[in-house]
Amino acid sequence: MNTAGTAEVAVRHILGDKVTGGFLTPRTRTITWSAAHYVVKRPPSGKQTVELTCTECSASLLAEVRDQSFTRTFAAVLRIIGVVCAVVFFAAFAYAIHEGGKTLPEGQSLPVLFPISVIAIAVTFVAAPTFYLHGRSYNGVSMLDAPKPRRGHQIRPVRPGQRGARTPR
Ligand SMILES: [Zn+2]
Repeated sequence: MNTAGTAEVAVRHILGDKVTGGFLTPRTRTITWSAAHYVVKRPPSGKQTVELTCTECSASLLAEVRDQSFTRTFAAVLRIIGVVCAVVFFAAFAYAIHEGGKTLPEGQSLPVLFPISVIAIAVTFVAAPTFYLHGRSYNGVSMLDAPKPRRGHQIRPVRPGQRGARTPR
């Protein structure tokens, strides 16, 4: 099956964002939404704006769809950044353990690179999985704008043929 010219997305309409409890019971946050599944056509090259309608409240959302080669390249770049971040993480981690474990002669402070490596560990610890997972799911569709009820909507990439995917009503 040729899915190169299309992208699958879910248009989510946030139904409720409730925080319950907090007095006698523990606080829990429940977010519910209804999702409409759309298959959008990709432009042959460049980018194209498509209008998706929320099936719940008929709000129209503007989304930008990128062509297949841009999508593939951008997704690969995101994954590479994720992998590079992971490499930096382990290198900085090894360095910090190496330097931090040393017994320094009196009056000598740790090298300047030590605090930098600690910052690098903290940043890449978050960045590596974020970039990698974003690169795995990126399908070239992003929400541009929606009228008033924008806040209550999301456009999420859906992997082609993912279980539970439905066709729009
Ligand atoms: Zn809606």
